[in-house]
Amino acid sequence: MSRDAAARTAPRLERQAAEEARGRLEHARGTRLVQLRALTETGQSADDHLMSAQRDAIERVLKEIDEAFARIEAGTYGLCLACAKPVPAERLEILPYTRHCVACRGGQAG
Ligand SMILES: [Zn+2]
Repeated sequence: MSRDAAARTAPRLERQAAEEARGRLEHARGTRLVQLRALTETGQSADDHLMSAQRDAIERVLKEIDEAFARIEAGTYGLCLACAKPVPAERLEILPYTRHCVACRGGQAG
């Protein structure tokens, strides 16, 4: 088997790893949706800047989770968007939707 054929039959992210990543992302999304619902329910009458900031932060994470799902489909999940190196597995366990490795993350979350 040539190197190219191996690359085609064994994608970088193996099926089981992809399933694990999906499971973590589903869990992260479910948690954020519950938080968002709780904020919406308690914040209906309040015009609270902190609450609105929290909601923005949750919606931003939900967007990042969607993007991570797209990267699983594209086969690029787990690669740093800045340096293209694999993000360590233990980081992906904590932040399954992260876009960057620790080195490229700088001071930003995710
Ligand atoms: Zn990086």
